[in-house]
Amino acid sequence: MKDTFHLNTKLLGLLGHPIKQTYSPFIHNIAAQMKDLDYIYLPFDVPAANLRNALRGMIALNIKGFNVTIPHKENIIQYLNNVSEEASIIGSINTVVNELGKLNGYNTDVDGVLATLTPYKKEINGNDVSVVGAGGGARAVIYSLIRHFKPKKIFIINRTEQRAEALKNYFDAKMKFTAIKTRELFPPDLVKIFNDSKLIINATSVGMFPDSDDVITKLGDSFVKDQLVFDLVYNPPETRLLQLAASKGAIVLDGLKMLVHQAAKSFELWTGEKIPVDELQKSLLMVIKN
Ligand code: NAP
Repeated sequence: MKDTFHLNTKLLGLLGHPIKQTYSPFIHNIAAQMKDLDYIYLPFDVPAANLRNALRGMIALNIKGFNVTIPHKENIIQYLNNVSEEASIIGSINTVVNELGKLNGYNTDVDGVLATLTPYKKEINGNDVSVVGAGGGARAVIYSLIRHFKPKKIFIINRTEQRAEALKNYFDAKMKFTAIKTRELFPPDLVKIFNDSKLIINATSVGMFPDSDDVITKLGDSFVKDQLVFDLVYNPPETRLLQLAASKGAIVLDGLKMLVHQAAKSFELWTGEKIPVDELQKSLLMVIKN
């Protein structure tokens, strides 16, 4: 983002409702500044009923691209001209590129998951993984695990077990991956499953600011030494879950790296420019801590 705006300043944005907890405007405006690009990124609070009109507006105003978040991630697919293969399997969009009035949809959360987990590929392959959650984030995580790793078994654990069951059936049908088991999120029953998982991923919003004291399990004996525990929650970066897991000797991975990498991929799709992600992450951390 430049200090002044000109005739040629291009617009990017975010469609969601509500959009109070987002860091996206900060990330993308800093990215534009880092690359000295004449772009500005604005949040647009668009309720579900206004999505179609908002998309017409984005085209009419020649907005170059935008992110989408809750509640539009799945519903938007019907209005897009093209959807990437990845986003179509995941069934959820977080990035749209406006290519001369044609809207192309992508899911860049996979880039964030891979940036976080690829360094641990050897540890993950051949072992059990527990994914807690069954929403959009969990879909991107499960897709990434099946497509890019070789987990022995994936446990999908969710407060509402029917949603976990629906995801199991979905990935069985879409990706022919049959080694999925489901469980209700009921911590006393999960200790053994968690203990036997080389990787545990929290893909729920539990622990997110302002409810930072919440945690998917308070049972410390769920975690073991050298296990990997990845929390998609990025605010606060060091969640109660990660604190608890670290106290048992687990290797903990926060949601910030995923956040910055998914944003960097979106920015690249819109502008063709790669962002220095480490520098961006440092700037973001300073904002979160203040
Ligand atoms: P979503 O589609 O709304 O799904 C929410 C999930 O959280 C569902 O599985 C829901 O269970 C569960 N949940 C919500 N409140 C709960 C509670 N009190 N107890 C137990 N489970 C609860 O949301 P999403 O898009 O997947 O996002 C999930 C989290 O991931 C959010 O915190 C989001 O910020 C984060 N995320 C981070 C990144 C990143 O870049 N780091 C990217 C994507 C998402 P039910 O099915 O029972 O309702």
